[in-house]
Amino acid sequence: MDFGYSTEQRKWYDAAVTFAREQLVDPESLDRDRRGEFWREGYERCARFGAAGLPVPREFGGQGEEIETTVAAMEGLGYACPDTGLLFSLNASLWTITMPILVFGDEAQKRRYLPPLCDGRSFGANGASEPEAGSDIFSMKTRAERKGDGWVLNGRKVWITGGPVADVFLVFATTDPTKGVLGITAFLIDRDAPGFKVVREIDKLGMRTAPMGELVFEDCELPAEALLGREGRGSRIFNQALEWERGAILASVVGTMQRQVDRCVQRARQRKQFGQSIGKFQSVSNRIVDMMTRLETSRYMVYRYAWLKKQGKDATIAASMAKLHVSECFAQNSLDAVRIFGAQGYTIEEGLERDVRDSTGGVLFSGTNDIQRNIIAQHLRI
Ligand SMILES: Cc1cc2nc3c(=O)[nH]c(=O)nc-3n(C[C@H](O)[C@H](O)[C@H](O)COP(=O)(O)OP(=O)(O)OC[C@H]3O[C@@H](n4cnc5c(N)ncnc54)[C@H](O)[C@@H]3O)c2cc1C
Repeated sequence: MDFGYSTEQRKWYDAAVTFAREQLVDPESLDRDRRGEFWREGYERCARFGAAGLPVPREFGGQGEEIETTVAAMEGLGYACPDTGLLFSLNASLWTITMPILVFGDEAQKRRYLPPLCDGRSFGANGASEPEAGSDIFSMKTRAERKGDGWVLNGRKVWITGGPVADVFLVFATTDPTKGVLGITAFLIDRDAPGFKVVREIDKLGMRTAPMGELVFEDCELPAEALLGREGRGSRIFNQALEWERGAILASVVGTMQRQVDRCVQRARQRKQFGQSIGKFQSVSNRIVDMMTRLETSRYMVYRYAWLKKQGKDATIAASMAKLHVSECFAQNSLDAVRIFGAQGYTIEEGLERDVRDSTGGVLFSGTNDIQRNIIAQHLRI
């Protein structure tokens, strides 16, 4: 086993840290968080750096890198960029729209959608959840019916990351509710498709710079080319997209946790109470040690997922474990960082309270952590 970065990983990690320090640390960031605003220019900068298409082959506008290298670059971005919502948006578009098009799209779909998704002209959103279908996702009611060569969609999607700002949507609907999971079908829908509307931007607790929306389809007419993969095979696309998301979307959070640990170590050395640095109190140093341990185990789980993908091995359970572990660790470490900084950590100007809010969504999206436990328990045949 080799636990070090490869030359390629090191190169992308270092480049990402330098890029993010120079181009993603923005004085407007806190105000944008307050206003709940997406930083499109920041997303386009990430795309120009290469992050939006890292694992996409060069012929489709990407960088042609392995997933292993992609997670190293994302870790670097997370270390230096405090805007978790921006990085979440970037990753959601990459893992749940770009990658499904790359793997399940036909040649024409790949040529049409991938270059703009990689270079930042286009941003993607994935629409699966519905008001009555969250964890029980395949009970979705959005209906797709054949009309001539094409399709007509009717239904509603909620909590869609990027919904208010996306240009292209990967939407799941049922073509036959009596078939359950075998009726689920995937469609690629442009923002200006007739009968499709983003009806609401949903205000929320954290990752406020990653806008969330509600989508409505009212007799939304789609051409035959909108079908992604085959009719009734959408669940495969959905499950694969979620596996990438669970395994890799939190790579940037590993970088964020490293930044938190570095800041806490510095604070523990510098802040003095009772005539000595607070790090000399074991309550404080133990807390940082626990943060560090959560960080290292999280890093291991994300890179192990990426390693399994490179080996062409089944990574379903590794993805669920990574998602479960990293999201819980991020939530705990974010709260611990605030405790170590005391009242100063509680202030908005310090930037740590934002991590507490931003980390909460991780225990819910991509299937809640309860659902990840169910998946792992099923695998163990419990
Ligand atoms: C930040 C964020 C971004 C999101 N982005 C998207 C997106 O881009 N696209 C999209 O389609 N959706 C998105 N979602 C929605 C997300 O996928 C759902 O929130 C998630 O699947 C859970 O569904 P729910 O919220 O309806 O909770 P529910 O399914 O109503 O669950 C409520 C509670 O019951 C528990 N529960 C439910 N069923 C079980 C069970 N079988 N066993 C144990 N416990 C159970 C859950 O764990 C949870 O605690 C996003 C959500 C968040 C928070």
